[in-house]
Amino acid sequence: MDESTKVVVATKEATPESKTPVVRLGTVTGKPVEIKSKDGKTLYKCQYCGKYVNAEDSIENEAGSYCEHLRENGLDDKALADIRSGKTVDKVPTDDSGKEYVKIAVVHRLCDKHNIPISRLVKAFGGDRGLDPVLHPAFAFVYVGRARYISPWCATTEGLAFLKTLGQSGSPNPEAKTTKPVKSVKPATKVEEALAPTK
Ligand SMILES: [Zn+2]
Repeated sequence: MDESTKVVVATKEATPESKTPVVRLGTVTGKPVEIKSKDGKTLYKCQYCGKYVNAEDSIENEAGSYCEHLRENGLDDKALADIRSGKTVDKVPTDDSGKEYVKIAVVHRLCDKHNIPISRLVKAFGGDRGLDPVLHPAFAFVYVGRARYISPWCATTEGLAFLKTLGQSGSPNPEAKTTKPVKSVKPATKVEEALAPTK
């Protein structure tokens, strides 16, 4: 394939939670997935989402495995943008009891705190872009701007306990061994404190 004709469009939605500084690729030709860092190392970026990739096959495909998977399933940028706008709302929704939805990033931190593998959270909300079925209705997320929000229930003791059980039933999961028993989850009031803004 002639690499010089490949056009790469930087995405606006690259890794909102990523701590990696996002280098805007813009619309460029040549070998845009290769970027020379200041210290002379060559870094590689996914041609679709701009995330760094390092697996051999990802570098070869010039795309992360997830983006590659999406394209293999016939989803182009337009289709993905349509799906995204279908999940986008103007303001943070509330649940049936009037409590505001919480950022997925918040639940992510709670998972870290409670030794719940992040892969389970991602699986529960249907994958990074929510293209797969959710494992529980409360985990269906919406976008508000760049952030994804899910029901506050997900951040409660019950919500976290649900994520914990994901690794215990079904297929054998080596991660389950390192997970503490559900009873170590703190009461809901404590969890809600964790939801307070961290600034
Ligand atoms: Zn990608």
